[in-house]
Amino acid sequence: MIKRLDNWIGGVAVPPSTGSYVRGVDPATGRPTVDVAAGAAADVDAAARAAAEATASWRHHPSAQRGRILTAIGNGIREHASALADLEIQDTGKPRHTALGEIENSAAYFEFYAGLVNLPVGDVIDVQHDQHNFTRREPYGVVGVITPWNLPLNQAARAVAPALATGNTVVLKPAEVSCQTTILLARIAAEAGLPPGVLNVVLGSGTEVGEAIVRHEAVRKVAFTGSVRTGRVIGRIAAERIIPLTLELGGKSAGLVFGDADLDLAAREVVRAFCTNAGQVCSAGTRLLVQEDVHDDLVARVVALAAEVRAGADIGPMITPAQFDQVRRYLHLAEEEGAHAALGGPAGAEGGFVTPAVYTKVRNDMRIAREEIFGPVLVVMPFTDEAEAIRLANDSEFGLVAGVFTRDIGRALRVADAIEAGQVFVNSWSTGAVQTPFGGHKNSGYGREKGVEALFHYTQLKSVTISY
Ligand code: NAD
Repeated sequence: MIKRLDNWIGGVAVPPSTGSYVRGVDPATGRPTVDVAAGAAADVDAAARAAAEATASWRHHPSAQRGRILTAIGNGIREHASALADLEIQDTGKPRHTALGEIENSAAYFEFYAGLVNLPVGDVIDVQHDQHNFTRREPYGVVGVITPWNLPLNQAARAVAPALATGNTVVLKPAEVSCQTTILLARIAAEAGLPPGVLNVVLGSGTEVGEAIVRHEAVRKVAFTGSVRTGRVIGRIAAERIIPLTLELGGKSAGLVFGDADLDLAAREVVRAFCTNAGQVCSAGTRLLVQEDVHDDLVARVVALAAEVRAGADIGPMITPAQFDQVRRYLHLAEEEGAHAALGGPAGAEGGFVTPAVYTKVRNDMRIAREEIFGPVLVVMPFTDEAEAIRLANDSEFGLVAGVFTRDIGRALRVADAIEAGQVFVNSWSTGAVQTPFGGHKNSGYGREKGVEALFHYTQLKSVTISY
């Protein structure tokens, strides 16, 4: 008997208004997992009303109490880590160690923001002797959160924790194919003492449930993580409604390896950058730019390490048959565009899994160098000097992450300054710390998640002037 997964509205599980469910599938085994509620606009309306009703009391909860509840949610995530990992593995097929890392990070978001419930504070502004002016940061009210399938619990926690810490209530929509951990998160939060209606989850498709969230009059801000294509759709609706957005979108992030770099370290980080979660990560490092004199040496090291990454053990499958087909098409395209497969290729794509692929003889105008593939596929290009490295790195519609590998601190700082990306890592690849702000330049989005900075994106400023 396949279990049913219902919406979570007003602190209880609620069947979808449509009465319909969509059967989930374990992408690693093809076995059915759970019947997922196919929600609709009516469910979003119920969730948004519950959230709006809970706003006044949650906002005025003593901040220390809000902090204690967030801490308890973090503890609850740790206590349920094994169950959460089981569900995450069912939904995404990822290896256990990857799932557990994501769960640990999700707990860390709640713990981090639990300690920041009193931030950000306002300013006192001196204007004239008979006036007292001060600013305060207030919650928006109901925040809509829409998340993708690749790191479902992590992406939900990353937005929900700062939204709740600042006194907002939330209507959350996870991706259809990987929503089991999000519903368990809502249950954990309720057990931790989060009042009913403060966190609501509506399951269903993007066009039905996602759009209804962005359109709902009670929703005053939306935090979206996903593709550029969907970001544009949401952006148009938000523009009509004049509501603010945080957009965390895609990437085609470059690693720049200079001739003086520690090549062992660079090779390890490059492989981690493009293979983690089978390349299904927005911050994946999928373009490798290498100074000519060390090009062949570094490629050989990267190929040797990436060849050890086993699909099915070290990395999971592509999330859906459609995603698998997309990656396989790019592997064929690489051949058509004249790239050289130093490792992997179409033959490495089988049964939903893709082994790491490394392409040399790539030009930056090829589609495999410009488009987000979302699989373990690395393209490599040589450069002669720092100026060319920067030009190639910035010649992209995206600007999410960059990695710079060099022993020259002056060069590291110059390149970090010149790179158009929201995050630059020197001698490492994206480390995922919850304390540091994260977000995109260019088509990778705007607004910021993580760090203290996120608090500014879940609050609006009010200026109060008292005359006396
Ligand atoms: P997607 O845009 O297809 O879907 C993301 C979410 O949006 C899902 O919940 C989906 O149901 C919903 N959605 C789809 N159409 C919608 C619509 N018209 N209105 C409202 N919601 C809608 O993205 P995906 O395929 O699930 O995820 C992969 C993408 O996400 C990649 O481009 C990746 O780079 C990006 N991503 C970005 C970050 C980041 O932090 N920058 C993190 C993870 C993933």
